[in-house]
Amino acid sequence: DYRVRYAPSPTGHLHIGGARTALFNYLLARKHGGQFIIRFEDTDQTRHQESGIGNQLDGLRWLGVDWDESVDIGGPYGPYRQTERLELYRPFVEQLLREGNAYPCYCTEAELEQERAAQEAEGLMPMYSGKCRHLTAEQRAAYEAEGRKPSIRFRVPENRTIAFEDRIRERVEFDSNGIGDFIIVRPDGIPTYNFAVILDDHLMKITLVIRGEEHLTNTPRQIMMYEALGLPVPDFAHLSLILNQDRKKMSKRDESIIQFIEQYDSLGYLPEAIMNFIALLGWSPKGEEEIFSKEELIEQFDLDRISKSPAVFDMDKLNWMNNVYIKKAELSRIVELALPHLQQAGRLPAQLSEEQRSWAEALIGLYQDQLRYAADIVPLSELFFREEVVFEDEAKAHLSEEYIPAVLGSFLKQVEQAEELQVDGVKAMLKAVQTETGYKGKPLFMTVRVALTGQMHGPDLNMTVYLLGKETVLSRVKKLL
Ligand code: GLU
Repeated sequence: DYRVRYAPSPTGHLHIGGARTALFNYLLARKHGGQFIIRFEDTDQTRHQESGIGNQLDGLRWLGVDWDESVDIGGPYGPYRQTERLELYRPFVEQLLREGNAYPCYCTEAELEQERAAQEAEGLMPMYSGKCRHLTAEQRAAYEAEGRKPSIRFRVPENRTIAFEDRIRERVEFDSNGIGDFIIVRPDGIPTYNFAVILDDHLMKITLVIRGEEHLTNTPRQIMMYEALGLPVPDFAHLSLILNQDRKKMSKRDESIIQFIEQYDSLGYLPEAIMNFIALLGWSPKGEEEIFSKEELIEQFDLDRISKSPAVFDMDKLNWMNNVYIKKAELSRIVELALPHLQQAGRLPAQLSEEQRSWAEALIGLYQDQLRYAADIVPLSELFFREEVVFEDEAKAHLSEEYIPAVLGSFLKQVEQAEELQVDGVKAMLKAVQTETGYKGKPLFMTVRVALTGQMHGPDLNMTVYLLGKETVLSRVKKLL
């Protein structure tokens, strides 16, 4: 049986790191016909936000990831958030206490702080001394009488090598002497992450734990607890870090990278492109191909091709990839995504007449191939909405050519004679200008393009002229003559 899970702490929006963990779990579950479970580690009340649960699920739904068990759809091993599972953890704490693998610790925060400071002053790695390991019943009673509430610590066995075969990193070893007795239940009775996670993984029959490398040092702690409880240990696969373009560890404040799935949604990226891109953060397919549909990813995805070296998040590559998907998409879909951006920018009214709507569709169609993401339509199409043409430097230089008055004069006449501009009509007009002036190619087309747009390069010229409309075309040409 193949059961995997994504277990976020619901602290906010879905981050690309979390999205990658979720996606890798999902792809493997689907590939192997297993189950993908999402549960929430919400016992850290200070970091937890209620909206975090909805945000995580919404982000995954947007990406195209679905799941078999979670808070929204339930499942046979629920509940799927830790704060609702506290009762389930109790017998395990009792077992550890009874068998001497855990003990109450009465040290206060201040005492622990003092201990840490003393260790640091001696140049030692701070580690709990085990002070409360050997308290007598009388000593415990005395602390209780003082009103101290104990936390529960796991008793780490001495002189043990904790080793496991990570499915990505291969053999990993830790020396138990480097691990101090750690807290598994806080004084308020709430279990800590390391303890709750193993109980959830056990009770939910998880067979493979796939998570970020930052949890690698938690794994020996977790294995020791499984062993102390006599529970089977699942397999582990730790995903490498994601670095930014400077090959530094990505920080949440890093602005060179769009980090939250929700932002991709609101900028008008396509979810299947983002899924494709995220799948390649640490996984590499067999051949050269980089574009994969969800179905293809499910088919090709493989634990054996996940790298243990860090993945580099390349925003330019992401934009390239999204553009590949935008070019392939139906125009109607791109219109749905791009139109609201034109409206929010005040370029178009919120309510469109039929005529305005088809104009907008044609405009978005004109730029479809150039969009990195839908919001790009606003800067790209700016020249259609400006009162004055803004000339790029090289375009300005082009306007000094001696044939400009001839070409523009002839073009002006053509436009003036037309009743209304039509796409095909524009083509015919340019042909007529060519016949009249003898200019063709760059002198003809570049001149008209530059006069109307201020740019040397742009999308289809006939369509551009048509969408500018007769009035604007006339005024822009006249200004130059
Ligand atoms: N709640 C942990 C996190 O958000 C997940 C730990 C795990 O997958 O074991 O990083």
